[in-house]
Amino acid sequence: MKIFQNYIGGEWRPSQSDKTFQNANPADTREKVAEYPMGNGEDANDAIRAAQKAFSEWSAMTPVARGRILSRTAQVLESRKAELAEFLTREEGKTLAESQGEVQRAIDIFRFFGGISYTLGGQTIPHDLPNNLLYTVRQPLGVVGLITPWNFPIAIPAWKMAPALVAGNTVVIKPASQAPGPTLELAKAIHEAGLPKGVLNVVVGEGRSVGAELAANPAVAALSFTGSFQVGQQIYQQLAPRMARGQMEMGGKNPTIVLADADLDLAAALAAKAGFGLTGQACTATSRVIVEQDVADAFTEKLVARAKAIKVGNGLKTGTDMGPAVSRQQLDGNLQHVDIAQKEGARLAYGGQRLAGGEWANGFFMQPAVLDRVRPDMRIAREEVFGPVIAVIAVKDFDEALSVANGVDVGLSASIVTRDLKKAMLYTQRIEAGVVKVNQISTGLALQAPFGGVKKSSTDSFKEQGASAIEFYTKVKTVYLDYSV
Ligand code: NAD
Repeated sequence: MKIFQNYIGGEWRPSQSDKTFQNANPADTREKVAEYPMGNGEDANDAIRAAQKAFSEWSAMTPVARGRILSRTAQVLESRKAELAEFLTREEGKTLAESQGEVQRAIDIFRFFGGISYTLGGQTIPHDLPNNLLYTVRQPLGVVGLITPWNFPIAIPAWKMAPALVAGNTVVIKPASQAPGPTLELAKAIHEAGLPKGVLNVVVGEGRSVGAELAANPAVAALSFTGSFQVGQQIYQQLAPRMARGQMEMGGKNPTIVLADADLDLAAALAAKAGFGLTGQACTATSRVIVEQDVADAFTEKLVARAKAIKVGNGLKTGTDMGPAVSRQQLDGNLQHVDIAQKEGARLAYGGQRLAGGEWANGFFMQPAVLDRVRPDMRIAREEVFGPVIAVIAVKDFDEALSVANGVDVGLSASIVTRDLKKAMLYTQRIEAGVVKVNQISTGLALQAPFGGVKKSSTDSFKEQGASAIEFYTKVKTVYLDYSV
């Protein structure tokens, strides 16, 4: 079992609470994976003070010098890729292949923002008078708070931390307690890469103490959060009175539309990968398939065949396609949604049962579920499940499909499967989502492109990822310079 401490002011420290907690492997809870300090508000406060102290020196360094530390971090992570991926699977449950992909993503993000350091700059604007210079510079905000979820426990901390740091901010991050280990491993790597003391601080602990301190402390200039709407909305309200900058990235109810002209084998393969991959625990997972009624039964049959072929098990075992839910609570929630859907009149076409005997005896396993005859007003068609559950909704045509797709209060990712270029283009224009894909899975993002949702999926004032991620972490100053005198 790994033993971790908080990372504050460049040191590894226990919590002032003197309490610790342990995480077990969700595929086999007999295995304890790691022990963590149960951080509290005082630890968060110490971390904020350490970050405040480190700010003037760090922000005075050139972006290129900061970027070099990020590039070196990528190298350190690369040298530990196999070990990190295995640890991630043990703690969060996703398959080893999925963990390897996620660790590689974190490495690439650090490399990308290391490179971006050479391009950080402002704009030169023509002045209306001669011999005058008018330009903008981008400056860091100060201490930035980051609060992250458990489902991508290394990629999400990396995609917030790297732009925050290269822009010259100092950081306090609170990872989710279900899987905080990879964030602490990131801290180890960045420490070894030469990050000055106090520039990055990691405090593990409960949302309502550590997270609440980050949201309420006036020394925290901005807060970037990824997680549920309930928590994101609460934090946003805490930031408003002191007008601190906030970026809340939250859940989705992502549709994949399947039109009658689609290659149904392709459509079923894409929906299964986007809905059951990562055990459905992706914010961009397909949870609704909206299919034209003429092909609905044929599509469902193909999707069920895909679901049946999925090998559920311990993510470390070769041949496993889908790992467990991260926790008992998450598993119970998934099963409950399947149950409620049936009570509301949906048909369980396949799966949705807990897997309990044999190799599944000590983990949080379930079969992937396909529900059809789902109506848009049912809870299964409106609420995020965050598990391997796909609701199939039959509609009469493209217009109805679009209206059903847009008929929820969230809008993160969306996909369409069709050979009809005109309808595909109309969909990209009219779907209310931050990301839209044609003939591709709704999950999976390019790290160099902006990402974020609309409606209740995001505060949508800033994007994450890609070069535009820098905007949240910097403020623009306009400089007027008269050299005619
Ligand atoms: P969550 O909201 O329960 O927790 C997220 C983080 O907030 C955790 O670190 C948690 O400890 C902390 N927290 C909880 N209560 C808090 C409080 N009162 N004050 C401050 N912090 C608090 O979410 P989760 O279960 O970890 O993650 C799943 C959710 O995240 C899903 O809704 C999913 O769609 C969403 N998600 C969104 C994206 C995206 O980019 N839009 C990406 C991944 C996950």
